[in-house]
Amino acid sequence: MKTIAEFMDMVKAKSPNEPEFHQAVEEVVESIWEIYHQNPKMVKAKILERIIEPERSIIFRVPWVDDKGEIQVNRGYRVQFNSAIGPYKGGIRFHPKVTLSTLKFLGFEQTFKNALTTLPMGGGKGGSDFDPSGKSDGEIMRFCQSFMTELFRHIGPDTDVPAGDIGVGGREVGYLFGQYKRLANHFTGVLTGKGQTWGGSKIRPEATGFGAVYFGEEVLKTQNDSFKGKRVAISGFGNVSWGTAMKLTELGAKVVAISGPDGYILDEDGLDTDKIEFMLEMRSSGRNRAEDYSDKYKNAKFFAGKKPWEVKCDVAMTCAIQNECNKEDVELLIKNGCKMLLEVSNMGCTADAAKLAAEKIIFAPGKAVNAGGVAVSGLEMSQNSGRISWTEEEVDAKLHQIMKSIHEQCVKYGRKGDKVNYINGANVGGFMKVATAMMEQGVC
Ligand code: GLU
Repeated sequence: MKTIAEFMDMVKAKSPNEPEFHQAVEEVVESIWEIYHQNPKMVKAKILERIIEPERSIIFRVPWVDDKGEIQVNRGYRVQFNSAIGPYKGGIRFHPKVTLSTLKFLGFEQTFKNALTTLPMGGGKGGSDFDPSGKSDGEIMRFCQSFMTELFRHIGPDTDVPAGDIGVGGREVGYLFGQYKRLANHFTGVLTGKGQTWGGSKIRPEATGFGAVYFGEEVLKTQNDSFKGKRVAISGFGNVSWGTAMKLTELGAKVVAISGPDGYILDEDGLDTDKIEFMLEMRSSGRNRAEDYSDKYKNAKFFAGKKPWEVKCDVAMTCAIQNECNKEDVELLIKNGCKMLLEVSNMGCTADAAKLAAEKIIFAPGKAVNAGGVAVSGLEMSQNSGRISWTEEEVDAKLHQIMKSIHEQCVKYGRKGDKVNYINGANVGGFMKVATAMMEQGVC
């Protein structure tokens, strides 16, 4: 294939109706095309054609009984994308909009993200179109048990290690683990994000957000700057935005906006410990309403149906879902003085939004910025294998070091003159590591 357009035509013909997957592939292909073609051995080995093909995609029926006694049927997936550098590793997403396209894009991204963490983890992702909002605890448990009843035969501590993602937190990981243990008769580290009394790692719930802020700190250091005094707008009020808000506040930044599916909150006073604690309550209540925040904190304003990217801020961090920030949002952010946009959600920006941000301000992609979550999952795997448990300080120090190293890889592969293109840096760094392992393992 001579051009990127020709290559993408092949991808689209082979996997039609998978727009998110095409978007994720195109971004990586654009970054690596030149360096890949400077390596004829890789081209001959068809590494690019192989790396975009999941090693295995499993699709299964998930039947369960709701509280009214009615039978419900959802679809479950596990995409085992690439195991060149370690067992498949990646979260499980429960969200009504989940399709094979979503999980293929996430599994593809995960492969390179995991490679960047420096830990030996392959890439995978799973999930279901199950909508957890408004479901009772019993319904969630029965759904998780049914989901695991099929999934358990495909996973294992040295095969595939799932974790949480959108709609899957500590409670769901608990139910999934309980069912795995019953079926397999093994107590083993087959999932990460477990409870702290049964093999979970310290800092895992905070890890994605903390890691993203550590990454942002490294970027700011290259500008002789820091988070101190910065106005930051973030989206979401889930686990990721909670961790992000907590670390930003600790470092002296002012988090002025958070959001939910119903709209965003502008809080000129900034978040504090009490408000961050309230975010956690909002999340665990499953109410899914940002407006609850302005009901409680009267100085805060709620903007129904709007995104937080219209507020005046120095830094913006997407913490909700893919493609939540588009080109018009980036234009508005730039107009309002934003100097740095960090994708904390996976592929949080549309392709044109990411390109514009990378050209005009500082932009870093999710696979680098949010890798702290899976990195601490990797540390949980190490602790489980060694039957040991590290302290909070130990895990936090390792996470910090990993995020520094991811930033270094981005700079190494993404520097152009006195600028760093973090998209290219992350893609080339992750790709070269996986591609080299694939070359060394022959045609498989
Ligand atoms: N779902 C998270 C991610 O997108 C974490 C995955 C994991 O811990 O395995 O990276």
